[in-house]
Formats: sequence, structure tokens, C-alpha cells
Amino acid sequence: MPKIYILCDMEGISGIRRMEQVKREEGALYVEGCKLMMDDINVAVDACFANGATEVVVADTHGGGGQVRVADMDPRAVYELPACRRMMTGLDESFDGVILLGHHAMAGTLNGFLDHTMNSMMIWEFRCNGRPLGEIGIEAAWAGHYNVPVIAVSGDQATADEARALLGEVQCAVVKYGLGRNRARCLAIPAAHQAIRDAIGRAMKSLDACKPFTPTLPAVTEMTVYRSDMVDDLAPKDGIERLDARTIRKTVHSLLDIFSIVW
Ligand SMILES: [Zn+2]
Repeated sequence: MPKIYILCDMEGISGIRRMEQVKREEGALYVEGCKLMMDDINVAVDACFANGATEVVVADTHGGGGQVRVADMDPRAVYELPACRRMMTGLDESFDGVILLGHHAMAGTLNGFLDHTMNSMMIWEFRCNGRPLGEIGIEAAWAGHYNVPVIAVSGDQATADEARALLGEVQCAVVKYGLGRNRARCLAIPAAHQAIRDAIGRAMKSLDACKPFTPTLPAVTEMTVYRSDMVDDLAPKDGIERLDARTIRKTVHSLLDIFSIVW
């Protein structure tokens, strides 16, 4: 009776090929981006149920979430608006897998379409126990707290490469290829949707093969930002140590605190 949690971001959604499609202030292009996102979500939800899921929760994370149009969502799924600083608010040990839909590569990835880590204006690199992590890694660690594995990821080729390198056994749907940071070569929508359907189908058939991502605790997290004043105000907070002008460090004792260096 698999229970699946779908966490949706925007940059890696099928057909999204320019930055304006993911920015709230951009009007018609953004509305098109949201429509494309709903289409990917409904394909993913259908693929879960077609492969035995009994419960599917959808949440969105882009810009703090809230972009899902519930009226347009497959009625078999339920939607969850993420609470502040709790990216998968309702996730718990009862879930069998997390699907990261429409995701993107970490900041500094060659040919990663709109690559960034949480805040594209601020974070140059985030590390956990010495290893650079992007949003895939941060979210996988959060799910790892509940012993839930990431079973499938969709996005561009760089996203798939990052997910495989980090998680090993994970099914990836490549729906586009980054051409530098700001442009993407996209699969046609039906082909992209088929890739998502196929990846989720494979994942649902091999749930046991996927292992939760659980960095060793206590974990040493570090963040390097673009400009030193970006950590001037963070540095004095509890438990945060400043290593140099642009780098801070915090040791965390729970994977739910994986990104508490910022949150
Ligand atoms: Zn993101």
C-alpha cells in the first residue's frame, strides 16, 4: 500500500525553458509555467496510482510554494502547502517514497538550467559533512530523517546526474537539457510526460531498492555566500561559527535541521 509524497519545484518542469516562466512578476509567461507544472503534477500523480499507490500527497516548494492550482489537480491526490521552514510539512515514517518533480541542479553546475541552491542571489555553495549539496540533497536528507527514500526525480540532464551521484538507486526523468544556465532544450511535452511516467513506473516497481539518504550525525553544515555582508547578520546566531568573510558553519544533530544554518 505505497504512500507517496511528491515535492514539486518549477525550474525542471517539462517545457519550462526560460527564467520568466518561473517568476511570479512575469504575468503571462509565469501563468504558462504554472500550467506546465500542473500538467507534470497530474502525470506524476496518475503514474503513482497506476503503479499501486494508495495515497499521494503533493506539495510545492518554488518560492515558498503555493503555486499548485488545487482546482486543476488530479482529485485522487491531496495538496499540502508547505509551512515556513518545513519543506515537507506532512512527511512522516508512514510514507514509502518521495518524488522530486521539476527539480534543478545545485548552484555552480555546468549546463544546469537555472541552477541554484535555495537562494540564487546568496548561496555560492552549501556543504554537509564536506560534501556540496543542492536542493535534491537537502530535501533527501529531510526525508531521510523519516527513513523515506527519494525514489524518482525529474528535471534536466544535470539534475539527473546530480541525483544519481548522490542517491545511487533513483529513477530519473530527463525532460530537458541545459544550454548554459539560462536556456534549455526541451523535449516535446508528450515525450517529457512519457519520461516522467516511465521513471515513476520503474521506481514504484523497485521501491525496496531505494535507500534513504542519511548523512552522518552530528552533521557539520557549511555555507559560502557570494558577498560577506550576506552572513554578517546570520553569523551571530546560536551555534553558528564564522570561518571566513563568506563562510559560516553549524553542527546539527537532526536531519530536520540540515538547513538550519539559514532557517
Ligand atoms: Zn528550487
